[in-house]
Amino acid sequence: MPIARAIDENTNRLFFYLRLVPFPQTPEELQFAIAGKWEDNEQFVAEIQSIPLHHFNEMFWRVFDETEKQIDCTRCANCCKVFHAGLPEEEIQRLATLKQMKYEEFLQKNVSIEQPTGIHFLKLNPCIFLYNNLCTIYDQRPQACRDFPRPPFENVKHNIRRVLKNYTVCPIIFNTVEKCKAQLRDQYPQKPKSRF
Ligand code: SF4
Ligand code: SF4
Repeated sequence: MPIARAIDENTNRLFFYLRLVPFPQTPEELQFAIAGKWEDNEQFVAEIQSIPLHHFNEMFWRVFDETEKQIDCTRCANCCKVFHAGLPEEEIQRLATLKQMKYEEFLQKNVSIEQPTGIHFLKLNPCIFLYNNLCTIYDQRPQACRDFPRPPFENVKHNIRRVLKNYTVCPIIFNTVEKCKAQLRDQYPQKPKSRF
């Protein structure tokens, strides 16, 4: 097949799929949806600079809370496959007990230490506690897992690049950002750029 036609067909397929999944909820759908978004995200970062701080933060959290309720994490589990959950000392002991392992053995097999911070992480991906997309220790999962993907700062406007780090991994973050873009562009239409 000629290269130009192959590119056209792939592009068509991509746009078709994008229309099909305007609200991605799985890692596979997310991979299609994030294609070509890098420049748009840069523009979004620039656009929000002129939005009043209180307005942006209030809108972000309202949209985040609403989006979190709409996503079924058991269809995704991407964070459990991609991220390494941080573990304070007492959680290592707790998880070792849950695995019926001695502390030292659990530490050696399942925990890595980031240098130079000394922070401990569950080192295996997917996580050893993930089975069939479900967390087998859900009620006793580490605090880092409970907190994700809620950004750990109220002032999201000033930390928007940190929020965007999870945009390609987490459908909740992706959809929150995309909804914020749409709402802001509705409320603050961009002036067309002059050609002169
Ligand atoms: S928190 Fe985000 S990445 Fe993790 S399972 Fe839920 S939607 Fe997926
Ligand atoms: S402990 Fe549970 S929630 Fe945390 S990464 Fe592992 S499977 Fe996911």
